[in-house]
Amino acid sequence: MDCIFCKIANHEIPSTIVYENDYVIAFNDLNPVAPVHVLVIPKKHMDSIMAVDDYNYVVEIHKAIKEIAKICKIEETGFRVISNVGEDGGQSVKHLHYHVIGGTKLPEKLA
Ligand code: AMP
Ligand code: ZN
Repeated sequence: MDCIFCKIANHEIPSTIVYENDYVIAFNDLNPVAPVHVLVIPKKHMDSIMAVDDYNYVVEIHKAIKEIAKICKIEETGFRVISNVGEDGGQSVKHLHYHVIGGTKLPEKLA
């Protein structure tokens, strides 16, 4: 499968890795929208939240988000977690990912 995030998970293409374990990998977004903008993905391919078939990965992603917040020193100041799904959600990469965004006061809440 020609999936850019699978290639990052397999270390086939470079990324700036922030955190990694057997289940997940987290790396800096190429086009950051804030001082901290990390993407967390399962190493196993899933298209989006709609395709999650193994909830161990959901737990691991949540644990990773906590680790990333500590590593990036935003655990006290706060941050936002976003997963865009499908057409209306504006998802551009069809491999499940969560944006962890922070390091500044974030603008405009949609929800
Ligand atoms: P989304 O629009 O929610 O699907 O988010 C996809 C994100 O992946 C965007 O914020 C892109 O900047 C980011 N992105 C795409 N390719 C790469 C890459 N090779 N390394 C890091 N981030 C990437
Ligand atoms: Zn993939």
